[in-house]
Amino acid sequence: MHFDLDENQTMFRDMVRDFARKEIMPLAHRMDQEAMIPADLIAKMRDNGFFGLTFPQEYGGLGVDTITYAVVIEELSRASAGLSVMLTVHNSVGSYPVAMYGSEAARRAFLPRMAAGEIAAFCITEPNAGSDAAALVTSARRTADGWVLNGGKVFVTNGERAAFYVVLARTPGTTGHKDIHAFIVERGAPGLTIAKKEDKMGLRCSDTVAINLEDVQVPAANLLGKEGDGFRVAMSALDGGRIGIAFQALGIGRACLEDAVRYAKTREQFGKPIASLSVIQGMIADMGAELEAARTLGYKAAWLKDQGRPHTKEAAMAKILATEAAWRAADCAVQIHGGYGYCKEYDVERYYRDVRVTRIYEGTSEIQRLVIARKILEEY
Ligand SMILES: Cc1cc2nc3c(=O)[nH]c(=O)nc-3n(C[C@H](O)[C@H](O)[C@H](O)COP(=O)(O)OP(=O)(O)OC[C@H]3O[C@@H](n4cnc5c(N)ncnc54)[C@H](O)[C@@H]3O)c2cc1C
Repeated sequence: MHFDLDENQTMFRDMVRDFARKEIMPLAHRMDQEAMIPADLIAKMRDNGFFGLTFPQEYGGLGVDTITYAVVIEELSRASAGLSVMLTVHNSVGSYPVAMYGSEAARRAFLPRMAAGEIAAFCITEPNAGSDAAALVTSARRTADGWVLNGGKVFVTNGERAAFYVVLARTPGTTGHKDIHAFIVERGAPGLTIAKKEDKMGLRCSDTVAINLEDVQVPAANLLGKEGDGFRVAMSALDGGRIGIAFQALGIGRACLEDAVRYAKTREQFGKPIASLSVIQGMIADMGAELEAARTLGYKAAWLKDQGRPHTKEAAMAKILATEAAWRAADCAVQIHGGYGYCKEYDVERYYRDVRVTRIYEGTSEIQRLVIARKILEEY
């Protein structure tokens, strides 16, 4: 057992860290305030291959392993979690179902375009199907040469920018996990429209929208997996997605720690830096220890995925530990900044807002606990 990144992983980390410092950090505050990502920043990310990180090289991707992917997401999230969620959704739940379950024709048709920067989104959540995703009612009716989709999805990350949507829908009149199918739907498909855009607390530069599907025709070749595989496709995509969200939270948590340390060393009260106070040191120690523990488990989940081994439990554990450690780190970072931490002049105010959703999306903490408990109860 060893705990070092290998040469390739280290090279990626250094390259992305440098990119984040030069290209993203200077814009992060403005992106949050104006709720936008400049087109030329997206173009630079495309030129660096960020949109095909996890895709096999034969389909135009970089084919990096999950640990490298996790490292990249942490570095990007340290600079801007709003920007990184665009990439995590694209590289995991938005594209993984195509890479893993698409036919060869579908892979050849879609993955190179995704790797080249045409953005992907994932649509499972509906107004009455959140944690209970199998309660979705969007319908998929079979026709002679494909499917017709009707319904609506909410909280679609990248929904406004996306060129592709992975959509979960069920045979009309059915209930439960079976009879759910997964499809890839292209933007511009007649009947697919963008509806309400959410005005969010954090991740403000990431777009989150509702979409409507009205008699949207989908070719048979766009079915991902077999008929009735949809729920399994979605859940396996979410296992990987949760590792990404764990590292998104770790990036925010590291930002909190780094900014808090810098501030504590320079802010003087009672004639000395507040970093010399044991209460401040206690907060810094807890932030560091909790983030490190979560990162170590996150690497284990990523490693298991790379070995092709089951990782549902470890991904859920990593997500819980990382998102809850980062949430506490954000609270400590604001506390260490005192009143200034409550103002937008300091980035910790943004981190505090951004981190909150990591305990909600891709499965709430409560749902992760159900997943972990179910696995443990099966094991023992
Ligand atoms: C910014 C943002 C981006 C998102 N991006 C996407 C996306 O790209 N694609 C997509 O499909 N979805 C996306 N989502 C949706 C997200 O995954 C859901 O919000 C999440 O799964 C929770 O569902 P819900 O909001 O309906 O909450 P609910 O399911 O209504 O849950 C409400 C509360 O009840 C708790 N609860 C529910 N059931 C149980 C239970 N059985 N046991 C214990 N507690 C329970 C929950 O933990 C939560 O605390 C996004 C959400 C947000 C906020």
